[in-house]
Amino acid sequence: MGEIIRIAGLIENCYLVRRESPYLVDTLNPKAYKRLSEGLRENGVDPRDLAHILITHYHYDHTGNLAELKRLSWAEVIAGAGDVPFIEGERPPQTGSDLNRTGRLLGRLPASLTTSYQRCAAAQVDVSLKGGETLEELGLEAVALPGHTPGGMCFLDRANRRAFVGDIVSNYFGRVGLPVLSASYSLEEIEESMRRLAALELEHMYPGHGRIIGPGASGLVAAFVRKKFG
Ligand SMILES: [Zn+2]
Repeated sequence: MGEIIRIAGLIENCYLVRRESPYLVDTLNPKAYKRLSEGLRENGVDPRDLAHILITHYHYDHTGNLAELKRLSWAEVIAGAGDVPFIEGERPPQTGSDLNRTGRLLGRLPASLTTSYQRCAAAQVDVSLKGGETLEELGLEAVALPGHTPGGMCFLDRANRRAFVGDIVSNYFGRVGLPVLSASYSLEEIEESMRRLAALELEHMYPGHGRIIGPGASGLVAAFVRKKFG
C-alpha cells in the first residue's frame, strides 16, 4: 500500500513509500544526503516522520545515510540477518570477488584502499530477517535473495504485484541485467534469486540501480535468465 516515490542518488536509488506512516527502502550513498533530504521534503516528509527503514543489502550506497536518519528519527530498521554484521560495523565490507576480472583485481588491492571509499557510519538494526516473514503493518513479505550479498532481502507487496529488489537485478539504461559482479559473491545464488523473482509474477520491480522495471517485470527477468543461464 502507498505511493512509491523513487529518489535518485548518484547512480543509486532509494524509495519513499508515502502513506500515513511513511517508510523508506534504502538510504543512498553518504554523499547523496542532500538529495535524500530534499527528496523527502519535496514529498512532504520530514526525516523524523519515518516510521521504518528497510534495507535491501548492506552496501554503502544503500546504507550510507542510515546512521544519520536513525539519529534524527525513531525509525525501526529492518534488514536481512546475513547483512546485519556489516550494517552494524562488526564486519568490514567485502572487497573484490572471484566472479570476474575486476573483482579479482579489487581483491588483490590492500583492503585499506578498497574499503575506505565504501565505508559509512554503522547503524543498529532493530529487526533482522531470514526471509519468509510477513511485515504485516507494511503489507510486505520478506523474500531472501542472496548472491549479491549474503543477507540480500526483497520486500514483496504481493497484493500490488510489486517488490523492492535491491541490487539482485539491475536495470541500467532500461535493460534487465546482473548485479555488479565485482561486488557480488556467488553467481549460482544470483541465478537462483533471479529465478525466484521471475516466478513471482510481478508487474513492477524497484531496483537499487537504474529505472523501475515493468510492466511485466517478472517476464522481463525470466527472459533475461533464459538468455543468460539457459
Ligand atoms: Zn550492492
